[in-house]
Amino acid sequence: MATYPPTTTGTPREDGTDPSGYRMPGPWTRTVGELTLSYLPDAGVHMIPTRVYPATEDGHWTPHRPHMTDRGHLAMSCGALLVERRGTRLLLDAGHGRISGEELEHFQHRFDHVQDLPDGLARLGVDPATLETVAFTHLHDDHTGWARPDAVDDPRSFFPHARWIVGEGELEGLDPAAGPRLAGQGERTTAVADGTEIAEGVRAWALPGHTTGHTAWILDTGDGRRIVAFGDAMHSPVQVEHPDWDVVLDQDRAEAERSRRRLVELLSQDGVFGYGVHFADQQLGTVDGSGRWRPWNDATDAR
Ligand SMILES: [Zn+2]
Ligand SMILES: [Zn+2]
Repeated sequence: MATYPPTTTGTPREDGTDPSGYRMPGPWTRTVGELTLSYLPDAGVHMIPTRVYPATEDGHWTPHRPHMTDRGHLAMSCGALLVERRGTRLLLDAGHGRISGEELEHFQHRFDHVQDLPDGLARLGVDPATLETVAFTHLHDDHTGWARPDAVDDPRSFFPHARWIVGEGELEGLDPAAGPRLAGQGERTTAVADGTEIAEGVRAWALPGHTTGHTAWILDTGDGRRIVAFGDAMHSPVQVEHPDWDVVLDQDRAEAERSRRRLVELLSQDGVFGYGVHFADQQLGTVDGSGRWRPWNDATDAR
C-alpha cells in the first residue's frame, strides 16, 4: 500500500508526547458486545472556543477548562470509526484527508497529526481497497477527506471500491457549484431515509440542522446496548451541558439545537453510549446523571 506521509505542523517531542498542550486524539480499539470499534484519528485540532461557539464569551469557558489545552484552546479531533462485526466492516466518515495544515482558517487556530488515517488502517491490517461501505454523518470536508475525488492520485479515492451512504436530503443540500464531495458521487452514493438499516444492526437516525441531511448512525451492540455515532450534532462535550450553544457551521441553528436536545435525551438512557468524532480524546462516552459527558473507561464499560 502506498504511504501518505503526515504533514504535521507540530513536532513531536522525543518522548512522543504532543508539544502543543495535550488532548490530541490517539487511536483506540474497543470491543463492545459483537462489535469491534476502532478510532482512526486523522487530525488533532486546537480551536479558539468563542469562534467555534459564537454565542459564547471567554467567561463561559472557565468551567470547561478540562476540555481545553493549557493555552486555552478547545481541543478537538477529526477522524473516522471502523465498525467490525463478524467479519463485515463499515467505516463511519472518512477523516479530513488532504486539508492542508496551512489552511488554518478552517480550524481557527492550529492542528496536528494530519493525515494519519491511512497509517491507522494499515496498523489494523485493513486494506482500504477491501472496504465496501463508508457511511457519512454529513458531507462537510472534515468528514469526506479520504473519499474525495482529489484525496489521492487515484480518482476513485483512497477507498476505490466502496459505496457511499448518506442521509436523505444531504446531497440536495450541497452547493452544486462546489463540485462533487465524493469520488464517483453520482454513481456510488445511496441516500437513505431515517430508520433505514444499512448493515446488520446499523440504522440511520436523522439529526438535521448542522446540515440538511445530517444523520447519526445507531449501532446495536448485540448485547442490549446502543452506540450513537452522532457526527457534528455536537462538536465537543460542552454541548451536552449547553445544547443551546450553536456551532459556527450549523446551517439551521434552531433545528440543530432541537436535534442536540433529542440526542442528549437518548444518550441519557441506560445502555446508550455516544461516539463524537470531534471529541478530542474522549470520543466514546455517555451522559451521566448530572447531565454531563462521562468518557467511557473500564468502569463505565460495565454499565
Ligand atoms: Zn460539519
Ligand atoms: Zn465536523
